[in-house]
Amino acid sequence: MNKSVSILGSTGSIGRQALEVAKFGNYKIRALTAFGSVELLEKQIREFKPETAAAADEKAAADLTVRVADTPTKILSGIEGVCECAAMQADVVLNSVVGIAGLTPTLAAIGAGNTLALANKESLVTGGELVMAAAKKNGVDILPVDSEHCAVFQSLAGCNDRGQIKRLILTASGGPFFGKNKEELKSVTAGQALKHPNWSMGEKITIDSATMMNKGLELTEARWLFDVPAEKIDILIHRQSVVHSLVEYVDGSVIAQLGVPDMRIPIQYALTYPDRHESPAQQLRLEDYGRLTFETPDYETFIGIDLCKRACSIGGLYSALVNGANEQANLLFRQGRIAFLQIGEAVEYTLDNIAPCQPGGVEEIFETDRIARQAVNKFFRIETEQ
Ligand code: MG
Repeated sequence: MNKSVSILGSTGSIGRQALEVAKFGNYKIRALTAFGSVELLEKQIREFKPETAAAADEKAAADLTVRVADTPTKILSGIEGVCECAAMQADVVLNSVVGIAGLTPTLAAIGAGNTLALANKESLVTGGELVMAAAKKNGVDILPVDSEHCAVFQSLAGCNDRGQIKRLILTASGGPFFGKNKEELKSVTAGQALKHPNWSMGEKITIDSATMMNKGLELTEARWLFDVPAEKIDILIHRQSVVHSLVEYVDGSVIAQLGVPDMRIPIQYALTYPDRHESPAQQLRLEDYGRLTFETPDYETFIGIDLCKRACSIGGLYSALVNGANEQANLLFRQGRIAFLQIGEAVEYTLDNIAPCQPGGVEEIFETDRIARQAVNKFFRIETEQ
């Protein structure tokens, strides 16, 4: 029996690649959701024939309802519609929504007892404690889709005692600005930042990769997924993106997972787990690479990693605060309203001067996110647009 899969965020980069994998593996698609890309979502509905689809944007949902009126697919709207899709019974729900908007669908999928393939790192960065507790309570597996976390997950196979782990080592490509100093980064544009050397990804995460904030968020995500403190997670620059991450054990053994930089491999593993199937991705030929290189990150220039690590160590909702500040600053940079280095400065200002809410439920997380975005706008003297 082929598995049934729901994909949240199906029109984004991960969502589109997940559909390629689903097609290759002949999976049944239960539900598809997007924010507002109706044209592509309509195309996906016609091809994959899900029972239900949702657009988070209400106008887009109304448009979609008209467009696919001739199909049996039921159309839902708003974030409630996305959550309803997440809660539909499926063998795996893949969440590739961008940003903190992915948190409530993550909780909806877990609440319904669905296995969650998680590509939305912000769910764990902002709500790690809440999400992991809900997963435990509902007996739900969270399978990481992020390439680094998929690598750690595979490298941890057979390890039942966290005490045997010396450290996790997440690899980082270094992004398009590797080797540049602050002076050289002063005037770089969003266009330059969007040219990632190895991975094809969405815009938000590609900018996060250029600032290396992405690696800081991944460190936070790893802290929750694998229950390893931030102090025991290191970052290593590896320009070729072939070694996707490593686990060092107390006996000195280091186990890593390797593969070509193709997101379809970790996506497929999350869908087929614990089995492995043939993949549409290219075979890794190490001889084509010749040599693989590793070096320490430039923490002084790319301050995002340390900011995330600090927030993680303080605990509470500080990681949600850092995430909100970063999402807002990342957006302002893409809009051409602030300079590249100001992204890190805004996040640092927020972490140093603003307090998050006391941890509670989802409301406190979203309120912390709002406070962080407001702080960033204030930092740049931008009128808050609501
Ligand atoms: Mg990654």
